[in-house]
Amino acid sequence: MWNHTMAEAECIFCNKKSSQIVIEEEGYQCRKCPSCDLIYISNRPSLEEIEKLYNNNVRANRSADASISGFFTRRLHARHHLRIIKKFIKNGSLLEIGPAEGAFLYEARKEGFEVEGIELNTIQANFIKNRLGISCEESPLNAFSFDGKKFDIIYHRDVISHFYDPIAEFQKMNDRLKDNGFLIFETGNLGNVELKYFKLFTNFQLPDHLFFFSDKNLKELFRRTGFEFVKVYRYSKVPLLWIMRGLKTKTDQFTVREGKKHLLDPNLSFEKINMFTFQYLLRNAFNYFSYLILYKIGYVIPKKGRPQSLFVIAQKKK
Ligand SMILES: [Zn+2]
Repeated sequence: MWNHTMAEAECIFCNKKSSQIVIEEEGYQCRKCPSCDLIYISNRPSLEEIEKLYNNNVRANRSADASISGFFTRRLHARHHLRIIKKFIKNGSLLEIGPAEGAFLYEARKEGFEVEGIELNTIQANFIKNRLGISCEESPLNAFSFDGKKFDIIYHRDVISHFYDPIAEFQKMNDRLKDNGFLIFETGNLGNVELKYFKLFTNFQLPDHLFFFSDKNLKELFRRTGFEFVKVYRYSKVPLLWIMRGLKTKTDQFTVREGKKHLLDPNLSFEKINMFTFQYLLRNAFNYFSYLILYKIGYVIPKKGRPQSLFVIAQKKK
């Protein structure tokens, strides 16, 4: 696919190379740093190659389509996360990085937060602006985003594995938070997962995912970029991964392709877009079930050394 002309990458925290290859997928290899447990693509694509990947229209369309049609499910996740967030901060300005179709922003606004988003996918950004009426920019966070405004909360979900330079991105987020502002995000814990569980994953989405972090890596990221760790909620992904693996061929049927016409029809209520066909209902039933398995059952079962979803609350240091 790409010409891997780049030299073998090293751990971004320890600046050392590793000989341990733990994932091979799509011509990419991930190595695990023996000192800090970071898992990273070692034959790393260049920033230019990554940008090409994200600007691929077919791919962008497909992901926009899938995520807009998944609005119902993503609202469930959003409400779950907002219940937790409100234990720490009840209102204020909130920026979401990578909101996809904006379900979280939509729910957060209902809860009284003043919301804005940064979404690089144009179809999704337009959905957020035009259908949800939420302010959304389409360039990566920089000094000029939202006229330099500072936020009470910066939120993202499943985004940090995609950052080309996670340390620099966390630094930027820190700069854009008010004093004591919250950085709140969801991510995985693959760096802490025992290798025998890797076979539960049907794929690791290389090279979209460039890094997989460990607990130690998150603490180090916070230390270097001016954050204080507040709390982490842990959910075991094992039952869900196990089910997804078993259903692999069947869940592919739920990918809705013909739904797009409905989604872009401005006369239809977007809250009802999922209700058109039996296929949508089936998919939503399945997604609701997955939500319960991850966040309810996954919360109470053993988690050490196993794949987890982490919901992390951090706060900007004074
Ligand atoms: Zn390391």
